[in-house]
Amino acid sequence: MRWLRRRAFRWQLSAKLLVISLVVTVLAFSAVCGSVLLDMRHSTEQLARQTMENLSATIDADLSHNLELYDKSLQAVVKNLALPELADVSKPILQLILFDRTTTAPHFGAVQVFDAAGNLSLDASTLKPAPERRDDEEFFKVHRDNPNAGLFISRPMLYQGAYSIVLSRRIETPNGGFNGIVVGSIRFGYFHDLLGRLRIDPQDVVSILNHSGVIIMRRPFDFDVVGKDFSRVAGVIQTLAKPSGWFSGAGLDDGTPRMYVWSDSSHPLVVLVGKPWRNILSLWRKEAIRLGAILLVLASFVAGVTIFLIREIDRRARAEQRLEELSITDPLTGLTNRRKFDASIESEWRRAQRMQTPVALLMIDADHFKTYNDSFGHQAGDQMLIGIAVCIADSVHRVGDCAARFGGEEFAVLLPGLSAIAALAVAETIRSKVEQWSVDQTGVTISVGTASLTPDPTTPWSVLVEAADKALYAAKASGRNRSVVASSARELSLVA
Ligand code: GH3
Ligand code: MG
Ligand code: MG
Repeated sequence: MRWLRRRAFRWQLSAKLLVISLVVTVLAFSAVCGSVLLDMRHSTEQLARQTMENLSATIDADLSHNLELYDKSLQAVVKNLALPELADVSKPILQLILFDRTTTAPHFGAVQVFDAAGNLSLDASTLKPAPERRDDEEFFKVHRDNPNAGLFISRPMLYQGAYSIVLSRRIETPNGGFNGIVVGSIRFGYFHDLLGRLRIDPQDVVSILNHSGVIIMRRPFDFDVVGKDFSRVAGVIQTLAKPSGWFSGAGLDDGTPRMYVWSDSSHPLVVLVGKPWRNILSLWRKEAIRLGAILLVLASFVAGVTIFLIREIDRRARAEQRLEELSITDPLTGLTNRRKFDASIESEWRRAQRMQTPVALLMIDADHFKTYNDSFGHQAGDQMLIGIAVCIADSVHRVGDCAARFGGEEFAVLLPGLSAIAALAVAETIRSKVEQWSVDQTGVTISVGTASLTPDPTTPWSVLVEAADKALYAAKASGRNRSVVASSARELSLVA
């Protein structure tokens, strides 16, 4: 039976190997797909980042160029005001000299000069400006209190009748004291034009912020955001801290997760471009879903094929096992048949020859069975044989033991490793079991001939069978329903 188990194990092993190889294939395929998808996602992100960086750089170029031009005009005014030669010139000439280089573009307000008290003293647009006082404005106080403020860009504010940002620079007396400010303004119209020209998705965001974290302008325009200070927002902190880069964050107004990119934060105004992640990754997501679906179908197919093959393997294994069991089993009693018994005694005998261990054999024969058959019929006789087989199988448990139907109403039990005395004990167990069982039925008994032999290399196993047979004969001769052991297989001296 051991070789049967070995064959079943082989089937199980091949089923396991099949499952493992298919699972590994699916896993490997998934890993490849996963890595391709990751690469694709990485490239998609990178491409989006580059595109947004370019957009930011383009806006920044226009913005910085105009700011620089305008600032140059303010600086020229500051420089010219310091010239002592201008002290005596008439106002129209002074105006001509001072504002000669001032930029006049549609959205740029007229350059103005305020004295140290905050009163308007010069206005590029008119020779007779209306009185105006700006000493409580932030842009005035900044220059008054800080000689190193440089170019100051205000928050968005209403200035000269339009929403603008105010650019200002400090004017100093020859000894470095505060002598007023020069002021210019850029109207919101400029930013509207600048950002309005862009061809971007409606959910994309472009914000222009100053270094105080205040959003100067934004597309889409939002009153809740423009002019507000966002210097405490993590993304804004990052933007102002690094010259260029990107971060991922939720939209200030709509909470949409976006990728934000800025190209250069060294200029006075920084351009931050944001694009929703779902738009960036929409194509990639479609591809991922498509690949995922293919993978799922493939995995399901492989799982289906695997289940089918495993069932088939199992069915075949069981059929084969059943066939093999049948080929070595006696059909009436279910014990090992004669063919298998011969193979077993052969191999056990060889082992015993090698190991020099004893092999015991019981030969069992039903007593007066012919009479039983004649009295109760052949079928009842068959039932009796089955009963005897059950009693035998019930008493023989050890690995290597072999209980077989030897032929007709004779049985043989091979007990490797057992001495004659130990084998006699097994024989007695079987005999008494049959006796007890059949006492209520028809009183059939058995006789058992027992022999045990430690074989030398030249002795054939037929010697053991003969010895047990002789012992059986002795049991019959001495009255039946008893067990007899052959004391020495060689001498075949029989002990009742
Ligand atoms: P003894 O005690 O000396 O063994 O007497 P016995 O009647 O058993 O003698 P014997 O061995 O000559 O008889 C064997 C009988 O067993 C002959 C046959 O009718 C019966 N027999 C053999 N094989 C089968 C079988 O497969 N089924 C049935 N019912 N009887 C069988
Ligand atoms: Mg017989
Ligand atoms: Mg008999």
